[in-house]
Amino acid sequence: MFTLIDLPYKSLAPVISDQTLSFHHGKHLQGYVDNLNKLIAGTEFETMSLEEIVRHSGLDPESRAVFNNAGQILNHNLYFTQFTPAPHSGLDPESPLSKQIVKQWGSLDSFKSDFESKGVGLFGSGWVWLQADTSGALSIAQYAGADNPVAHGLKPLLTFDVWEHAYYLDYQNKRAAHLSALWEIVNWTEVERRF
Ligand code: MN
Repeated sequence: MFTLIDLPYKSLAPVISDQTLSFHHGKHLQGYVDNLNKLIAGTEFETMSLEEIVRHSGLDPESRAVFNNAGQILNHNLYFTQFTPAPHSGLDPESPLSKQIVKQWGSLDSFKSDFESKGVGLFGSGWVWLQADTSGALSIAQYAGADNPVAHGLKPLLTFDVWEHAYYLDYQNKRAAHLSALWEIVNWTEVERRF
């Protein structure tokens, strides 16, 4: 049985309104948790972790609903736990993650700009990710639906949700404005830890 994660903060307003946070966490994510628990009852997936379910179900078209709901739980758990109410300390320039970003993008600002444009350019519903391979090389990926780096054998570090439910109440059709505002609440200490 999977359960809804607790949020490590009370509010992320004004970047994400309390209403959006409440619906996104309490309704959307809760829905994926309820669906997955029903889908996996009595199946081979029942004893697996979310990561294991994503890795195993992704290969089989008949397990698509299991993959979609487990993927969405995993994605949202990583999403909600990577934020912190502003102000925060930012990315430590001496951290291995910062050094790798500067090596590949030249600067943190240049990385952010690339990440935002890939989020804006993702067609339809999905997630933009910063991911790492086993050598520590970074890449930005656009994944549709519930797909994520774990399903591709990569390590998930940071993600922005570009499903409309993540921003429509606050930003309507202005996805770019939402994505650029999210940097204010990224908890870089948590992202560095994942790396
Ligand atoms: Mn979402």
